[in-house]
Amino acid sequence: MHTEPDCLFCRIATGELSADRVLETEDVVAFRDINPQAPTHVLVIPREHVSSLDAAEPRHAETIGKLHLAAKRIAAEAGIQGGWRAVINVGADAGQTVFHVHLHLLGGRPLAWPPG
Ligand code: 5GP
Ligand code: ZN
Repeated sequence: MHTEPDCLFCRIATGELSADRVLETEDVVAFRDINPQAPTHVLVIPREHVSSLDAAEPRHAETIGKLHLAAKRIAAEAGIQGGWRAVINVGADAGQTVFHVHLHLLGGRPLAWPPG
């Protein structure tokens, strides 16, 4: 499995850097965002380094699906009522700042649409 030694989220996935982890499976790791934008703000990442959804290939399909199913499980365990949001920022203009693909799970407050 491909990992990048200088990637922040690879280093969190391996445990080299600490994070407030909420879920770990064979394929994905989830941890609380360091700068939360909602009462529940969790990042779900694959253990494998994929820089962005733009860089994903067909062989990543199952892992990308698992990011979403992990978010569903975390939202249920958090007891979020009324809805939550799954967001993947793709590229700098969309606000991506960490180039290891990650799904944001946001919930616990009303969320406006459209986003900025
Ligand atoms: P992006 O802007 O790339 O979609 O999201 C990156 C997210 O990672 C941001 O919400 C940011 O707060 C979060 N983040 C950046 N560095 C760290 C870190 O070291 N630990 C944790 N837990 N979150 C981080
Ligand atoms: Zn990485």
